[in-house]
Amino acid sequence: MAFSLTDEQNQLRKTVREFAEAEIAPHVMEWDEASRFPSEVIAKLGELGLLGVLFPEKYGGAGLGYVEYAIALEELARVDGSVSLIVAAHTSLCTNHIFVAGNEEQKRKYVSKLATGEFIGAWGLTEPDSGSDAGSARMTAVRRGTSWVLNGTKTFCTNGHYADVAALPPVAHNTAPTPVPPALLPHAPPAADQPRTPVPAPPAAPAAPPREPLAARRAAPRPAPVKHGSPARRGAGGGVAPGPGVRTKVESGMEPLMMGRL
Ligand SMILES: Cc1cc2nc3c(=O)[nH]c(=O)nc-3n(C[C@H](O)[C@H](O)[C@H](O)COP(=O)(O)OP(=O)(O)OC[C@H]3O[C@@H](n4cnc5c(N)ncnc54)[C@H](O)[C@@H]3O)c2cc1C
Repeated sequence: MAFSLTDEQNQLRKTVREFAEAEIAPHVMEWDEASRFPSEVIAKLGELGLLGVLFPEKYGGAGLGYVEYAIALEELARVDGSVSLIVAAHTSLCTNHIFVAGNEEQKRKYVSKLATGEFIGAWGLTEPDSGSDAGSARMTAVRRGTSWVLNGTKTFCTNGHYADVAALPPVAHNTAPTPVPPALLPHAPPAADQPRTPVPAPPAAPAAPPREPLAARRAAPRPAPVKHGSPARRGAGGGVAPGPGVRTKVESGMEPLMMGRL
């Protein structure tokens, strides 16, 4: 088995390295010290195809694979870990979930814009009181007429302030009157570097049941991990089958997309 990179992969590495050294390296300290999101560089990465490396060309992607994706991240991280993480969160955490679990309409609407960099993507798993223990997430989604009302708090969302689309799994649905797929994709109009309009606070959440102390939860035996591609992750037995994909509106004023389970 050959482990060396192909000529095309070596060329990709060279291209990303040259870009990173020319466009990112001179500004790294300035951006870091000013806590600045380098929107102009992210746009250029989109033009280079580096925001859609993994996705098929029919969705605006470069149609390449994980080796190429890893090469791109590696070369960006060689110069600026933050830029690499922006690309990784955008690609793996946001776009890829929609690509893997979304329906065709959702892929055309979101993946095609995320892959080209027209949209920036984020992922909201972590909450103030749950990180690794994703099953303890408390955000709820409650059906109200033709809308879904999201209620909860997310934190540590890479790209969060600049994202046009965010995937938010899992969503607790114990308060919902109807079954709710635990994944939501709010969609706000694209914005560049200008400050975002504050989103009105949602109504107070219904009282959550008392939580088991974290130490006790960590001590409890964990279920065996479910492998990617296994029947369980594909939906058999309550896994992650794509849902019906219901477009909706949320009271925050964002136009979200309710999609299948991630
Ligand atoms: C640079 C960066 C970017 C991030 N971007 C995002 C993002 O885009 N979206 C998002 O949702 N989140 C993001 N996060 C948050 C990240 O996913 C969480 O920090 C992570 O899930 C860990 O959660 P926590 O911080 O609450 O730590 P905890 O889950 O509380 O873990 C604390 C410690 O306990 C250990 N631990 C946890 N569970 C167990 C267990 N069962 N048994 C033994 N030990 C355990 C952990 O290994 C760790 O050492 C980001 C974090 C960083 C650092």
